[in-house]
Amino acid sequence: EPEPSETTGMVVTRQAGFYTVWLPSGQRILSVLRGKVRKGGPVVAGDRVRVRIGQDGRGVIEEVLPRTSHLIRPPVANVTRVVAVVAGPEPDLGWLDRLLVVAESQGLSCVVCLNKIDRTDPETVQSFRSLYQAVGYPVATTSARTGEGIGPLAALLVGHVSTLSGPSGVGKSSLLNVLCPEARLEVGDVSARSQRGRHTTRVVRLLELPDGGLLADTPGFSRLDLEGVEARELWRLMPDIRREAAHCRFKERCLHRGEEGCALPEAVEQGRVAPSRYRHYRRLLDEALQREARRYS
Ligand code: GDP
Ligand code: ZN
Repeated sequence: EPEPSETTGMVVTRQAGFYTVWLPSGQRILSVLRGKVRKGGPVVAGDRVRVRIGQDGRGVIEEVLPRTSHLIRPPVANVTRVVAVVAGPEPDLGWLDRLLVVAESQGLSCVVCLNKIDRTDPETVQSFRSLYQAVGYPVATTSARTGEGIGPLAALLVGHVSTLSGPSGVGKSSLLNVLCPEARLEVGDVSARSQRGRHTTRVVRLLELPDGGLLADTPGFSRLDLEGVEARELWRLMPDIRREAAHCRFKERCLHRGEEGCALPEAVEQGRVAPSRYRHYRRLLDEALQREARRYS
């Protein structure tokens, strides 16, 4: 008889005391935690684990490997990619820029997605595309309704553990349903969903994408606080502002807020930084400065 074998995999979901561990082969192993692992704190979706597989095909999780990232709400480990979703006809760029800063501050790579292009003016779609491509982000423009742009979005998720994030109603559940056939989420009924959310703790599942990659079935970053983002560091978290700040003669001493002689206002005037991006930078900066003033007063 074969000896029990040991391998590494990723936790894709948990139910009661059972963890489904997904192996690189695509096999799923129903597993329990070794006692000492249980004492080490919660094991969440996305955790990479060392699992011992018995002859009955059941697994025992022997060790949780170090995390590269960890989201608190919802709890999911080792996310590498955030899909920041907004929707037409009037995409909320303030929300988007704020999310991008929070994700950058946690070292996560971002893709920006404009959904509902079936009800968005083509000029808005095009200018959204050029705006965020110029910043440096991969851009997807999609319609979960017609399926347009879904293939290119899926291609951006291959090889990643991703989470969708975006304001309520932009189509995150709808995108999940078209991206992953196994998702089957309720769409649209926000009130019913938040009702349920109040009474149960939602367990995150990682869904397998047909072209490769895993996608969390629960949107990430339900609260976008800038806690932990220093005002002085903010410019580093916006790639377009960071590029222009490199040319500012005040260097590290500058908040790039538009001080006399700062390089940023000119960069905006000459079109190298979009006015909306600079406006949002200054808004986030003021917020961070106010928070720091409160903290130190
Ligand atoms: P969520 O709150 O972000 O998860 O958004 P939902 O997926 O629940 O979608 C909210 C509403 O927008 C629903 O009525 C969807 O049918 C609709 N919706 C989602 N995607 C699209 C789209 O691409 N085009 C259009 N026209 N409606 C969409
Ligand atoms: Zn400056």
